[in-house]
Amino acid sequence: MKYLIRSVFDFFLPRFCPACKTKLGNQVEVICNNCFFSIQLASKERLQFEYEKKFVHENLISGFYSHFVFEKDKALQHLIHSLKYEKRFQNGYFLGKQIATGLIPFFNEWKIDLIIPIPLHPIKKAERGYNQSYYIAKGITAITSVPYNQKLLKRIRNTSSQTTMTLVERKDNINNAFKASNEKVITCKNLLLVDDVITTGATTSECAKVLLEAGANKVYAASVAIAD
Ligand SMILES: [Zn+2]
Repeated sequence: MKYLIRSVFDFFLPRFCPACKTKLGNQVEVICNNCFFSIQLASKERLQFEYEKKFVHENLISGFYSHFVFEKDKALQHLIHSLKYEKRFQNGYFLGKQIATGLIPFFNEWKIDLIIPIPLHPIKKAERGYNQSYYIAKGITAITSVPYNQKLLKRIRNTSSQTTMTLVERKDNINNAFKASNEKVITCKNLLLVDDVITTGATTSECAKVLLEAGANKVYAASVAIAD
């Protein structure tokens, strides 16, 4: 039934692979197989290296998982770009399900109670139409059955784009940008923060700080990809 509906839609509104632009068949979710299998997976060693580099010294994030490695001008960048800027929110759901397959062993150890997407400021959300991390969280929930909640953390400052900033500039930019909104629900919980790409980890750490101050037991982080 799902494929039938998709073929009807594909007939009127053909879908294309966001990376190589070939037409997608109706059994394909969001990206062609060639491009999908070209995306680099994050190895255990890489995850350990990135965890030590980005999170260990601040002691806010208790554990971290990324499924892929972000490479410039490669398939994953196109997939994430179309998720964030071309209204392809289905990409987020798809990527969330991919992350979840790698996250399952960690979930047994971390005992996550709630999944929290990194929030966008309401102005940015209105511009984009949705929060991409919300769809990634939804995809993780679909596989793990751990519930998500997008109302516990709010972005109260609309920060400027961080892409060209150094770590120190990012930390300054993101400071006090978030607020926890329901401490009763957060208290004593193990939370998983979810983002599209983790670069320096400054945003993730700032969110974790706010959630721990609001009473969370432990905060973990997961993202679609890690970037240098
Ligand atoms: Zn492709």
